[in-house]
Amino acid sequence: MALRFPIYLDNHATTPVDPRVLEAMLPYFTEKFGNPASRQHQFGWEAESAVELARKQIAELINANPREIIFTSGATESINLALKGIALAYAEKGKHIITTQIEHKATLDTCKRLEKIGFKIDYLPVDKYGVVDPDEIKKRITSETILVSVMFANNEIGTIEPIEEIGKICSEMNVLFHTDAAQALGKVPIDVQKLNIDLMSVSAHKLYGPKGIGALFIKRKTPKIKIVPIIDGGGHENGLRSGTLNVPGIVGFGKACEIAKLEMKNEAERTKYLRDKLQNGIMNKLEDVYLNGHPTQRLPNNLNLSFYGVESEAILMGMKEVALSTGSACSSASVEKSHVLKAIGLNDDLISSAIRFGIGRFNTEEEIDYVINRIVEVVNHLRSISPKYKLKKEITKL
Ligand SMILES: *Cc1c(COP(=O)(O)O)cnc(C)c1O
Repeated sequence: MALRFPIYLDNHATTPVDPRVLEAMLPYFTEKFGNPASRQHQFGWEAESAVELARKQIAELINANPREIIFTSGATESINLALKGIALAYAEKGKHIITTQIEHKATLDTCKRLEKIGFKIDYLPVDKYGVVDPDEIKKRITSETILVSVMFANNEIGTIEPIEEIGKICSEMNVLFHTDAAQALGKVPIDVQKLNIDLMSVSAHKLYGPKGIGALFIKRKTPKIKIVPIIDGGGHENGLRSGTLNVPGIVGFGKACEIAKLEMKNEAERTKYLRDKLQNGIMNKLEDVYLNGHPTQRLPNNLNLSFYGVESEAILMGMKEVALSTGSACSSASVEKSHVLKAIGLNDDLISSAIRFGIGRFNTEEEIDYVINRIVEVVNHLRSISPKYKLKKEITKL
């Protein structure tokens, strides 16, 4: 098949909507437009049953009960609701929260906000692979600790955190455990019961669903988890998230989870094959390329490499027909250096030469072959005109 350009290899930023997801959503924009809160007529009932089916599809993917799923506008909102909601509800018990240095900005910025109103946050360091030490979490837990929040898988380097161990520690020490699973959902198996997860934030657009819809899983347990809502009015979603439900989005999210449940195993194998081919193809043909993240404990579709001696921006400019992301912050306006790459101990040179590849459901082997050749070509060219790289080569020869 002929290649189509541009090639999309930025599937950690977002994924295209699967055509099957779109097809499931379409009727809910047109004839099935009802408001699920309209309890008196067919239009409302139809919308409500679609929402309840989606809740079930999402719950089944993570081994939860549908009643434990609260719809939000995405993982950012879910994280805000979890962290602020727990903080406000448990402030009497204590004001201490534990998280890591490599969380998504949605978590870090929410934590900063909480610090301003008197909460104490511990941002735990990670090792050179981006893994947080569960024992360190255990040591930091005090009688004041109300929440531990550790991401399931990192969005830049793909590292998968020791969620089961952390869940076990939190459950034994009676501290609530939240995980940001935006990148993990649909990519790796998640069993919220086995992993002792109390709260989990997820987003549809990272697993071939639409943008603007997400969910917060809240475990039903005794004593009941208390959360103070951040959006009031109308009392939708058990009073935790008011506002008319985004029915087409919810239907699409449900369908995306149904597909993931059926296809995740094969898809993970396929993306891992393509990822490994990309990694080996590049590393066999280029010197001074370093893998960022854990060599094995990482998402099957993630590859993050530093190309010593060249600026990642220059690489991307040299191959505009491929959509990739650099190691600098993905946060919209800012161009600050990646806090994740900093936290794993990379020096500035390696941070500014990092590129993130995110392989997805719709990438083909031909695309991967093309990208290997282009990266090699562009990096070789940039290095050939880089005095710094030449100097380094000469020094190492001495
Ligand atoms: C994308 C992402 C988010 C934010 O999700 P939105 O639904 O876009 O708000 C949060 N955390 C991680 C790890 C992500 O990858």
